[in-house]
Amino acid sequence: MIYRIYDTAIVGAGASGLMAACFACEGGLKTVLIDKNHKVGRKILSTGAGKCNLSNENISVDDYLCAEKDRLRELLSIVKKDDILNFFSEDLGMMLLRENDGKIYPFSKKSETPIFAFEKYLKKHSVEIFTLLKVSSIINKNDLFEIELNQCLAPGEKETKLQKTFTILARKVILACGGPSYPRIGGSQDGFALAKSFGHSIRNIKPILTPFNVKMPNLSLLDGLRLTASAFYKQKKIEGEILFSSSTISGPLALDLSFFCAGEYIDEISIDLIPEIEKEKIINFFKNKHGSYFDVLSASLDKKLSKFILDLTGINPQSEKKDEGIHKFVEKLKNLKFKGLSPCGFDAAMAKTGGVPLSELDNNFMSLKKKNLFLTGEMIDCGGRSGGYNLHFAWISGILAGKKAAKT
Ligand SMILES: Cc1cc2nc3c(=O)[nH]c(=O)nc-3n(C[C@H](O)[C@H](O)[C@H](O)COP(=O)(O)OP(=O)(O)OC[C@H]3O[C@@H](n4cnc5c(N)ncnc54)[C@H](O)[C@@H]3O)c2cc1C
Repeated sequence: MIYRIYDTAIVGAGASGLMAACFACEGGLKTVLIDKNHKVGRKILSTGAGKCNLSNENISVDDYLCAEKDRLRELLSIVKKDDILNFFSEDLGMMLLRENDGKIYPFSKKSETPIFAFEKYLKKHSVEIFTLLKVSSIINKNDLFEIELNQCLAPGEKETKLQKTFTILARKVILACGGPSYPRIGGSQDGFALAKSFGHSIRNIKPILTPFNVKMPNLSLLDGLRLTASAFYKQKKIEGEILFSSSTISGPLALDLSFFCAGEYIDEISIDLIPEIEKEKIINFFKNKHGSYFDVLSASLDKKLSKFILDLTGINPQSEKKDEGIHKFVEKLKNLKFKGLSPCGFDAAMAKTGGVPLSELDNNFMSLKKKNLFLTGEMIDCGGRSGGYNLHFAWISGILAGKKAAKT
């Protein structure tokens, strides 16, 4: 049953889809925003550990993995960071917070705030929102897109009734379906399948901003430990907090590492577990201390850390401390080789590399394969670092696609 024609239909009510809707509806254009989830912005709700790190003071092309960096540089310069922030504060009415490290948040530090602001704006501009409807196919006929929608189950709902199918028509379509990260909150490859149906190619997709599984037999000794460390990967120094479990490393350092290795397996990496203090200073400090290794070290270091390093060096924790043993201990502490690091999969990854190449899109994120079809956000071959960069790119692509859709 065909029951409505829209100027623009946006598939995916996540970050880029919500932003695109705000611009596509300009001048009263008939706009619909469709999502398979039961509410809009589900992934935004989980961002920044519930605080929504929505952008960063320092945005550069180096903060992204993308095969076409020159095109990305151009796109990042079309919509300025301040244009986005002004839209949030002036049009969405949101107060913002700029932290010293450059990260930008809603002033409330609550991810529900931007969702509330978007919903209010879209309601005021009469954008229709369909939830619990999954777009299964889009076909272009006579300059109109025929969009098939399948009803989804609400959370907790049992499959008792027949799932309904609807068709709507639209003059323009914006694919804002996101990527495969966090499937439990809507992440999927749906968008890539829809893009492929219009002839788009998809560059190799890999999880980034993810913890690592580590093959190290005694790692369980560090289970639950959290400390600030620095790592060297291909001559690049990465610093931040690292969290250990019996088989994984996670936390900001691991997320950054997964970005710099572009989601690839790492054979070996050197980690300094006490980057704040130089090696000689630590050795000198322990020189005049007496007692067993465990007692001497545990008076200054975390017990789990001491046990772990002693275990690796083969030193008996209960034997009397010797300078030679301390040298070996500190050497390991400052230059620990972790082996066999494999990035955890999309279940735990906050973003991805790969996707639809920028060369298949114009500067308004319109497809060069199909006129009036747009692609935004994580569907594109552009994966950002942790720190607000992924949402920043989602806003940019949403603004440009939405604006162009309204003018076409
Ligand atoms: C836990 C977590 C924390 C994060 N924290 C941050 C952060 O603090 N800062 C930052 O910059 N980035 C963060 N990110 C990344 C950021 O959330 C994403 O890059 C961003 O949301 C991508 O926007 P998008 O519009 O491309 O896709 P999404 O926001 O994922 O939206 C896509 C939407 O499309 C819908 N959809 C998909 N297929 C269909 C279909 N067939 N039919 C209908 N609807 C469909 C999905 O349900 C979803 O709602 C985080 C990600 C995760 C998982």
